[in-house]
Amino acid sequence: MPLLIYNSLSQKKEVFNPINPPQVKMYCCGPTVYDFLHIGNFRGAVFFNFLRQWLEYNGYQVTYAYNFTDVDDKILNRAKKENKQMKEIADKYIAEFKKDFQALKLKEHEHNPQATRFIPNMIEVIDTLLKKGKAYKVGKDVFYSVKSFSDYGKLSKKKADELISGARVDVDERKQDPRDFALWKSCTEEEPGWDAPWGRGRPGWHIECTSMIFSLLGNNIDIHGGGTDLIFPHHENELAQAEGARQGPFVKYWVHNNMFTFGGEKMAKSTGNVSIMRSFLEEYNGEIFKFLVLSSHYRSMTEVSEKKILQCIQALSRVYTFLKTADFLVRAVSEETATDKEKTLPEVQSAEKQIEDSLNDDLNTPTTLSIIFTLIRQFNEKRSHSESQTKEIILYAKNIKSIIIKYGKIMSLFQEPPVSFLKQLDDIFLGKNNISKEEVNKLVEDRTRARKSKDFKKADEIRRKLMDMNIEVQDSPTGTTWGTKKTDFLP
Ligand SMILES: [Zn+2]
Repeated sequence: MPLLIYNSLSQKKEVFNPINPPQVKMYCCGPTVYDFLHIGNFRGAVFFNFLRQWLEYNGYQVTYAYNFTDVDDKILNRAKKENKQMKEIADKYIAEFKKDFQALKLKEHEHNPQATRFIPNMIEVIDTLLKKGKAYKVGKDVFYSVKSFSDYGKLSKKKADELISGARVDVDERKQDPRDFALWKSCTEEEPGWDAPWGRGRPGWHIECTSMIFSLLGNNIDIHGGGTDLIFPHHENELAQAEGARQGPFVKYWVHNNMFTFGGEKMAKSTGNVSIMRSFLEEYNGEIFKFLVLSSHYRSMTEVSEKKILQCIQALSRVYTFLKTADFLVRAVSEETATDKEKTLPEVQSAEKQIEDSLNDDLNTPTTLSIIFTLIRQFNEKRSHSESQTKEIILYAKNIKSIIIKYGKIMSLFQEPPVSFLKQLDDIFLGKNNISKEEVNKLVEDRTRARKSKDFKKADEIRRKLMDMNIEVQDSPTGTTWGTKKTDFLP
């Protein structure tokens, strides 16, 4: 099955054929850096990290640029408030973004351009637009002339009259058409700005991305990504500028991830302050966040709630418990069984085919994850019916583990050391449910004592009580262990 990607431009799934294979040029709009970032900013970062790795797995050579908007009124306002320079604020929050990005263990981008370092390129593009009659000056400001671009609206599917009435709300009398937008905004000598042939000022937001794409990737790129909230006006305007200034289609595939929703629940009350990525990482961890993102399809709205996050923890517990078991079984394997290493079981082979099909079908990570959970469930059933650690079970464990590690790696998931990571998940889960470890340990000890004195009724009662607390006990010849109750992933 070829790779199909939903293109916002055609509003259809299309076969992915890059302009110049195996090269793939990809750009995503990064954040405006004036504060700690919201988890919504990182939904895109996690999804496009997966997309680039899926393309690489399929043999493409990806060049990925993810920018920082480091000149903007929001940054300027914050700088004024804190009595600092705009650059100080931007540098601080770029550094903070990088900390979050590293904690998420995502692959580094080839380019992280900052808008302020590309001002001469922006001036050049604006100059081209002026010369081509696609832009006009009003005093020291420059506006894009939407009328000059007959395809305006082709990405967002907005009709001209709809755009005109929308733009009227905030009409600038100096514009020739209410739909026109600023390419360059004049400013005073005291404010941060740059000299352009038409006067001192700052670039408009949209021209930043267009110019950085031209400079780093060229006139025509394969994938332009971002959140659905950027389709209009940002991407529509980027497109109008690019195709107005240069030849050919600017972007072959426009790919947009959907938004997080927080439902009726007030984030502040229900989930603390986890709408900020740094707080999420402090309360939970990066793996839980990545699982939360990829367990929904990238084009679906995803509800974030404490309940949902706890479900993610339980689902991750299922996977990591399997990985721990698989490691244990493989360590116990004899030399003789080790020769079976390369053998792939037919049922696992067919699951692998299903995974590849699901990822090729518009990057359907929820289906991939549910296939992985089915494999784990089948393994657990098989193991509970087998008397000992048979060669078959060990081979099955090895096979499934290799699939989880292989496709997990593409999603930047499931690469943590199982034993210590499970402990981390348990600690978070207990903390969130206000259960103390001492309390659980005591109940487990009471149950062990009851079992020893053959009081099975009492032992069962305690087990049920633990289950109600979402704690699972497991008895084995070496003793009883406990951990967070595991669940399968339910899309
Ligand atoms: Zn952009």
